[in-house]
Amino acid sequence: MRIVLVGPPGAGKGTQAAFLAKNLSIPHISTGDLFRANISRQTELGKLAKSYMDAGNLVPDEVTIAMAKDRMEQPDALGGFLLDGFPRNVSQAEALDEMLKTEGLKLDAVLDLEVPDEEVVKRIAGRRICRNDSSHVYHVSYKAPAQEGLCDECGGELYQRDDDAEDTVRKRLEVYHTQTEPIIDYYKGQDLVVTISALGKVDEVTQRAMEALKREGDE
Ligand SMILES: [Zn+2]
Repeated sequence: MRIVLVGPPGAGKGTQAAFLAKNLSIPHISTGDLFRANISRQTELGKLAKSYMDAGNLVPDEVTIAMAKDRMEQPDALGGFLLDGFPRNVSQAEALDEMLKTEGLKLDAVLDLEVPDEEVVKRIAGRRICRNDSSHVYHVSYKAPAQEGLCDECGGELYQRDDDAEDTVRKRLEVYHTQTEPIIDYYKGQDLVVTISALGKVDEVTQRAMEALKREGDE
């Protein structure tokens, strides 16, 4: 299956993508990983992307598209893939369609993970990270430490990352609504969109997603 995963920040896209890709035996292709891999291997595209990032600019669509194309042509992706973070706007979606069409291929489904804005804000703005170890992660409502402000594992001070501050989250949501959400309408025009709620436990959401994809595949 060739699947695109869409959803706002805080929807648990990365986690779901990893589980779904494993269940479906297809590679999980995330833009974050693509950028990191190209930059660490110092490919031409990686160097180009880094020059924009170092200058504090957005990486142009052409660069992202070229990295995605390169990755989708790897042998493990020939039978299908799950894209996470790409396409992130309509022009990238159009480029992806072109790319697939050239190979005589098409997408099978676009999985839309739905989370209300207020829940996104609650999920992200409630995160607290340990200063000693960024893998020690807490949440003021969902996973509170025994002692407020202190890490259960090592006693380190907990803090909120700048990226997780409420006004930053609201800005990221705004970008999602204006730039990424239009691709859902774009794909609705191709009858590819499967919308599921991303509320609830991680395994419940995975289950919901698998069932929705199966229904879509049967049609
Ligand atoms: Zn800690």
